[in-house]
Amino acid sequence: MSLDSAWALDWTRRAAVLIAENRAELTELDRAIGDADHGDNLNRGMRAVVAKLDAAEETGNLPATPGGVLKVVATTLMATVGGAGGPLLGTAFLRAARSSDAPAWGAAEIVRALEEATSGLEVRGHATSGDKTMADAWRPAAVAAKEAAQIGEDEIGILTAAAQAAAKGAEDTEPLQARRGRASFLGERSCGHRDPGAQSSALILQAAVDAARDRVPAAASILVVEQA
Ligand code: ADP
Ligand code: MG
Repeated sequence: MSLDSAWALDWTRRAAVLIAENRAELTELDRAIGDADHGDNLNRGMRAVVAKLDAAEETGNLPATPGGVLKVVATTLMATVGGAGGPLLGTAFLRAARSSDAPAWGAAEIVRALEEATSGLEVRGHATSGDKTMADAWRPAAVAAKEAAQIGEDEIGILTAAAQAAAKGAEDTEPLQARRGRASFLGERSCGHRDPGAQSSALILQAAVDAARDRVPAAASILVVEQA
């Protein structure tokens, strides 16, 4: 199975739903070590992204490739989300968008997109692993995706490994002292709280898997149920 523009569209819509559902929690995380706006910032951005894609769908102008869809996500986040989170996430999506113009992404394209997204945001944010930023979700995801591809996992296996690693990465930011962004102003007082950007990034990557699982042809799903 490879993942086409319909997958990227579904990924985006599912990400918007997950961010909306977790908006208050993300804002609470940001209240502890930032300025209590991350959930609202990202929710506003994702709503704008979905509105833009809905309008494109209505007029028959949907992008034909995953890269095309992710470019809309990137540019809309950059334009609508204030603060540090929007431009950084926008950069990640823009780099993923530019990583391949193939009409459907297989294992190699997914691994490449995650690597590009991650290195793009690390460079833009001057952030490395352990700085307690969204990079602490994206970097483990990119590494896990690469490792899963190397042992022959398919697209769903790769995205599952990436999402699980991102969730663990977000959790692992809790004891860390922030070295980048607003949270770094708190010094040691930033320890003991999960980074909001890492948490939202993990949700976004979870949506990518959920969308991929939903694209398994019906016949294959039945087979899985019968084997279980
Ligand atoms: P702001 O900090 O401007 O209010 P948000 O609250 O929307 O922006 O986003 C905060 C998140 O942005 C942080 O939790 C962190 O994950 C991420 N972030 C902030 N600065 C950086 C940076 N330099 N590099 C990577 N990520 C960063
Ligand atoms: Mg904030």
